[in-house]
Amino acid sequence: MLTLDEILEELSKQTGKSKEELMERIEAKQEELSGLVSLEGAAHLVARDLGIDLLKKSERTLQLKDIKTDMKRVNLKAKVIGVTPIREFAKKDGTQGKVRNLVISDGTGQARIPLWDKQTEIADEINIGDVLELKNVSTRQSTFGNMDIILYKTSIMRKIEEDLPVQPLSVNRISIKDATEGYFEIKGMIVDIFSVNPVFYLCPECKTKLEKDNYICNTHGKVEPEKNMIISGVIDDGTGTMRAVFFRDVAKDVSDLDEKTLESLELEEAIKLIKEHTIGKEFLFKGRIQKNKIFENLELVVNQAREIDILDEANKLIEELEEDGGKEEV
Ligand SMILES: [Zn+2]
Repeated sequence: MLTLDEILEELSKQTGKSKEELMERIEAKQEELSGLVSLEGAAHLVARDLGIDLLKKSERTLQLKDIKTDMKRVNLKAKVIGVTPIREFAKKDGTQGKVRNLVISDGTGQARIPLWDKQTEIADEINIGDVLELKNVSTRQSTFGNMDIILYKTSIMRKIEEDLPVQPLSVNRISIKDATEGYFEIKGMIVDIFSVNPVFYLCPECKTKLEKDNYICNTHGKVEPEKNMIISGVIDDGTGTMRAVFFRDVAKDVSDLDEKTLESLELEEAIKLIKEHTIGKEFLFKGRIQKNKIFENLELVVNQAREIDILDEANKLIEELEEDGGKEEV
């Protein structure tokens, strides 16, 4: 909801009338309605009389760090940092389907724009470095925990000449007790692992999740599934704890395990093995903190996990100190 000031600003900009003049009209409107509406309400009515759609104007262009999954009617500007090649697949009706992705960043966050079938042609005109303006798009979480931008018939995506200097994603360190949604780095330790099947199966064509042991996609029938790894657990940085999710390569990085090993084990054994390989290890985690839909608390979808070898770091520090110290003393 816009404040009275914001409405006056917008009306003045669009009509060229002074704020005083507009305010008089708003007060007159309120009086006309025997004071039954607020000044803001009256301002909206005056706007309507003037043929101005305030709701449309109140859409704001957001930065990726402020865009959450499952948002609708989002406007943003971002730079293309990646364009994937077209991947073709056979659809159930016998026609050929196509998909390719654009990866975008505005320096505050990253997202992927999947383009399907005819939409893929848009990408022929788009190069890395181009700045895109997106209007009226929606967002949702991808199978791997990242953010996807969804284009609808009413969405607008166009190249703009405006330059958008996009630095590599700046990721600030945050402690768990101060955590909010956005992209951050957390230095912490894995302290628990949830008992969730560490391997999940996707249709190689459309990436739909498949039931274990049947591998039947509703669109593509029986398929040889794509196997992916997921580990979820709890991290602790000394200020608090947070849920963390690791997909694919990140899951492999933190556990030194792979799908093949884990698939051959019963769930209980697999989780036991993952725990042995992860609990107590300290990492620098980078990723997106978001509100977990089911549990309503914050979770970190980890994009990168670098193990901190405390002894190694300490040795390096000692070496540096000795070198410096030595030079001065001699
Ligand atoms: Zn499929």
